[in-house]
Amino acid sequence: MLVETGKAKILVDLGPGTMHRLLEYGLTIFDLTHIFITHFHPDHTAELVPLLFATKYPDGAARTHRLTIAGGTGLKRFYQGLQAAYGQWIVLPEEQMALQEIDTLAGEALTCVEGFNVTARPVDHRPESLAYRFSDSTGSSVAYSGDTDDCETLAQVARGVDLFICESAMPDALKVPGHMTPSLAGTMAARAGAKRLVLTHLYPECDGVDLVKQARRTYKGPVMVAEDLLSFVLEGAIRNGRAQG
Ligand SMILES: [Zn+2]
Ligand SMILES: [Zn+2]
Repeated sequence: MLVETGKAKILVDLGPGTMHRLLEYGLTIFDLTHIFITHFHPDHTAELVPLLFATKYPDGAARTHRLTIAGGTGLKRFYQGLQAAYGQWIVLPEEQMALQEIDTLAGEALTCVEGFNVTARPVDHRPESLAYRFSDSTGSSVAYSGDTDDCETLAQVARGVDLFICESAMPDALKVPGHMTPSLAGTMAARAGAKRLVLTHLYPECDGVDLVKQARRTYKGPVMVAEDLLSFVLEGAIRNGRAQG
């Protein structure tokens, strides 16, 4: 997921293929100001190594401003683990990269100098797992669940949000531990008073299932199923939601 607000271009998680999709959208890795990681599973972090390598080679001067990479408890250890495999190939100078480890259990509310606020709250998936809420000075807000099971902190992070992007890995009939379903995502959205729900992180079992119908069992607001390059403009409230590309 990409959040653009003011001068900030924030990537939230980076599974395989993220750099290609960024280019299709019209951005390069050098435009990014922040990366927020929900947890360390490969489907959320696998593009980090190629992104760091492509920042350093062939032209180490191509990044002209610092990239902040934030994540929950263990982020530094996770990066050290990648370094154990890739060494200097993924190490950037201090003026190009900063690691910001968030204490997952404490959660945190950060105000970034680029003019946006982030709230991070622990969710029920991995010990480091965080859900994030981003808001700008006008109050426009978006929340992203990351991977999680049904939990109260998820409703907190999505409270009154303009756009709630929630994982729904499996259909209602095939619920697995550590993940949500459409009707559970709907329950969370309703409890939070979220103004719009988008279902994402869909496993193959979701193919051919009417996920929107399942979410509508528990949530009366607008619901969509996410797809790559789907984009929304938030201005206090959503002006429009449209698929591009
Ligand atoms: Zn996961
Ligand atoms: Zn995942």
